[in-house]
Amino acid sequence: MIDAHLHLQDDRFDLDRETLLKQAEAGGVTFFFCAATRPADWEKVIELAEKRKNIYPFIGTHPWYADQHNSSLLKRLLNDYSAAGIGEIGLDSIKSNPAQESTFEEQMTIAAEMNRPCVIHCVRSFDKVAACLKRLKKRPPALMFHGFSGTLEQAEFLSRFNAYFSFSGTALFPERQKLRKVIAALPADRLLVETDAPDMPPPFWKEKRNVPANLPLILEGIAGIRKTDAASFNTLLRQNAERFLLQRLDQPVPNTDPPFVV
Ligand SMILES: [Zn+2]
Repeated sequence: MIDAHLHLQDDRFDLDRETLLKQAEAGGVTFFFCAATRPADWEKVIELAEKRKNIYPFIGTHPWYADQHNSSLLKRLLNDYSAAGIGEIGLDSIKSNPAQESTFEEQMTIAAEMNRPCVIHCVRSFDKVAACLKRLKKRPPALMFHGFSGTLEQAEFLSRFNAYFSFSGTALFPERQKLRKVIAALPADRLLVETDAPDMPPPFWKEKRNVPANLPLILEGIAGIRKTDAASFNTLLRQNAERFLLQRLDQPVPNTDPPFVV
């Protein structure tokens, strides 16, 4: 199983990171997509990925920390680590700050220039993400909307830019009916599953800190929403994750009129 999004570098894991990784591996998790959040944790993410071959690093500046962004350091590290993707970047209208939009667009431009897949955090900002995708002359090879919270129409539009949609254990809360409908209806080849650990604890986990070993039960729950069994869903997710990472071809420029207004 592949955890498509989590933050192994988080200091909430400093005391027992190795134990937690081993627990996850014992439960069948084979690969971790580890996303940075700001320049201060980029080196730590890369160090973790260098130590363990099954950690795939994404470095970038999260919208909440947009004022800390450092483009020249990002480019230098991406140059040194050709396997690294870009993330977690994005837009968040709930915690907005003035540097968000320019920081996001700058990183999307770097992702396009350097041909790297991007992990995107988007909260109530799909119109702005669409506008940015429209403005870019060249686009990143693949996008992952982690913890996707948009509509099917938005997903359909974003799919034209080779987007994938990842879901965490929060989709398993019974009150998330709308989200479950989106998960059930999305095309199978666009789906991914994540823990977002140490954040977003699933309903079956009573601790504040979410852990990577929760992935198998999250995957099983989301397979249930898709009305499929966990084993075949996992095979599909693996193929999607590989395609997301490996597709480095220039995308044809799609028709960019967004069919939605947020
Ligand atoms: Zn995250």
